[in-house]
Amino acid sequence: MDWPELKARLLAEGTVRLTGKPASRYQSSSTAGPGAGTGGSVFFSCGRGRVRLAIDQNSSLEIVHLGSGRALLKAWNLEIGGRLEPIALHCPGQAYITVTGGCIYRCKYCEVPAIDAGRKSPEDIEAMVENVRDNIHSISLTSGMLQSVEEEEEYVIKVTGRLQRFGLPIGVSIFPGKGTAERLHAAGVTEVKFNVEAATEQLFTEMCPGLSYRSVWDALEDSVPLFGRNHVFSNLIIGLGETDEEAECCIENLCGRGIIPVLRPLNPARELSGFSRPSAERLLRLFAFHTEALSAAGLDPCRALTMCLECTGCDLVPGRDRAE
Ligand code: SF4
Repeated sequence: MDWPELKARLLAEGTVRLTGKPASRYQSSSTAGPGAGTGGSVFFSCGRGRVRLAIDQNSSLEIVHLGSGRALLKAWNLEIGGRLEPIALHCPGQAYITVTGGCIYRCKYCEVPAIDAGRKSPEDIEAMVENVRDNIHSISLTSGMLQSVEEEEEYVIKVTGRLQRFGLPIGVSIFPGKGTAERLHAAGVTEVKFNVEAATEQLFTEMCPGLSYRSVWDALEDSVPLFGRNHVFSNLIIGLGETDEEAECCIENLCGRGIIPVLRPLNPARELSGFSRPSAERLLRLFAFHTEALSAAGLDPCRALTMCLECTGCDLVPGRDRAE
């Protein structure tokens, strides 16, 4: 089994049992991203790629921590040697921080409103980055929404102002309004991720009541000439009820506009807890389509400096997840 196939199977499963030597320094508990608010997760890497798995002591998969990060993944009668990766903030190598850990909207798949972790001050965020400065190569910010799209953007821009002194690339993923791309660019942000989330407008409206699909697409289109190709990204969740054809059409539309899609397997939570994670076969099929669409558009996820495309923990990423 090559790495993309193994990773697809691991992502379809989503969880792992952690055994062996104590591994607390390799465990993350996050207030954003898949598995947010659960019992934590680990990042396993084996030279051909990295995967993030939620820790669940009832999982059928097992990672044995042998000590000092060395680890053995036991799955489907295979034993794969690799490493548990130390986490900086949220993921390896990055200070990835949720600025506002709550939200006035109620997207059906999202756990941020339920966790309601409050808002961090710019001073606290600066201190968090300072603490991990020697272990990171980029800073990424995401945010829920405390009051409004405009107020959140203003607050996040204030935070980026305090972080410029670190001299690291800064990625920002927030819900955009009119002019957001221009303002983030003027504030010195390096990359942006505005998430279309759903493959069709109809599905988006059903999943994210009150939010505008068009705003996201407009902001993405505004972003490409400012931040450049390979530096504008968008999450597309796989498993919300879209067909493969709808997902492929959305992937093509994004790539055709110079935007790199991040194909995010659904983590069934909150109102979608009755949904299933997408199968490994489906993830691999879409990975093949995604790889071709990126190549046809001349886009390369390996050029990304921040956020999920740089991390790769939760998704199959063409170019970064390698067969050999
Ligand atoms: S891929 Fe994105 S959401 Fe997943 S662990 Fe990495 S940074 Fe977090």
